[in-house]
Amino acid sequence: MSDVFTEVESAVRSYSRSWPATFVRASGAKQWAEDGTEYIDFFSGAGALNYGHNDPAVIEPLIAYLQSGAVLHSLDMQTPAKREFLETFSELILKPRSLDYKVMFPGPTGTNTVEAALKLARKATGRQHILSFTNAFHGMTLGSLSVTGNAMKRRGAGIPLTHTSRLPYDGYLASGQSDFEWLENVLEDSGSGVDKPAAIIVETVQGEGGLRAASAEWLRTLESLCRRHEILLIVDDVQAGCGRTGSFFSFEEAGITPDIVCLSKSISGSGLPLALTLFRPELDLWEPGEHNGTFRGNNPAFVTGTAALKAYWADPTFQNFMGGTIAHLQRRLDEIIGMVDGASQRGRGLLAGVKFADPNLAQAVAAESFRNGLLVETSGSEDEVLKIMPPLTISTQDLDAGCDILAAAVREVTS
Ligand code: PMP
Repeated sequence: MSDVFTEVESAVRSYSRSWPATFVRASGAKQWAEDGTEYIDFFSGAGALNYGHNDPAVIEPLIAYLQSGAVLHSLDMQTPAKREFLETFSELILKPRSLDYKVMFPGPTGTNTVEAALKLARKATGRQHILSFTNAFHGMTLGSLSVTGNAMKRRGAGIPLTHTSRLPYDGYLASGQSDFEWLENVLEDSGSGVDKPAAIIVETVQGEGGLRAASAEWLRTLESLCRRHEILLIVDDVQAGCGRTGSFFSFEEAGITPDIVCLSKSISGSGLPLALTLFRPELDLWEPGEHNGTFRGNNPAFVTGTAALKAYWADPTFQNFMGGTIAHLQRRLDEIIGMVDGASQRGRGLLAGVKFADPNLAQAVAAESFRNGLLVETSGSEDEVLKIMPPLTISTQDLDAGCDILAAAVREVTS
């Protein structure tokens, strides 16, 4: 473990409270601290590094671009880097899935794409209300926070947040039919006083909210309710998208087609900030200047995003490779879950979680894992779920090394 860590005095408190090390180098699924300690990465930059650190297939085109004297920052002007990203995204992602979406760059981060989605839904429907789910996480700016179902995060805003309400989210535990029946009744009852919402926003797996995964059936029920009531369906795929669950979009398995999709995190392939809002062509309603922002034209991020799409999503073997990794992780997690009474599996694909009966255990396991060379986070309103999110490209050897550390940490903290 690193013993040379000191906080910079001016820095605000951050993750370094739980990971006291200064990281100097990274490659693939590994990171090294200043004192040479090696860490396996089951964190992947909070989901922004699905292809691992410094993948040469992504970094080499970036170096060439930087050395070429091309435009770095271009707002919404056209550049070859932007054009190539859009063409590649269309060819490799949208067309093979028969998805007809317009692509917008709403600003640099996940919360920007959520804000754009909420605004667009309100503009398109002329309604104000947005429904979201308990334990949802959609970002930290006011609009995104207003649909985030986490009291601690909302408290930080210090003001009542209006125009949203939250629904129970129990797709993992049950089919959720009764919640939808209840909602249907409320929407159909003209005397209920409930405004028809502009949109319902949902994560198919709640990344920050405890790795709860909605079933395909629950998502299909949600989609048909939205269609029946002409409510727009927004899928926030900021964390669960870009391959995390085993397919490019996390909603593919359920066979649903959201009206609006939010992407960010790993869409740049490199950890550079980039966000996309995808929407049905009929929703292309913005007037010039109605949604803009300075950092919409991050050309280095377009270059790495294009390179990652070409390196992985043009490769027909990639999805099989991920399937193998998911199955292997599942076997290893089954072993770990079997070690602790009352432990259960959460999540889907490589957005996996382990929930312990004792809510303090996940944090204890994460801290012990760090001491033994593994970066792993916790999730949930009480950090009660261990969140296992390795790069999609991780080798079996590194995956096993990380799982060995996890298993030893579980043994240590439960002995
Ligand atoms: N939506 C989801 C589902 C997320 O997981 C996150 C980030 N954890 C966001 C939105 C916000 O993204 P950002 O932190 O880049 O603003």
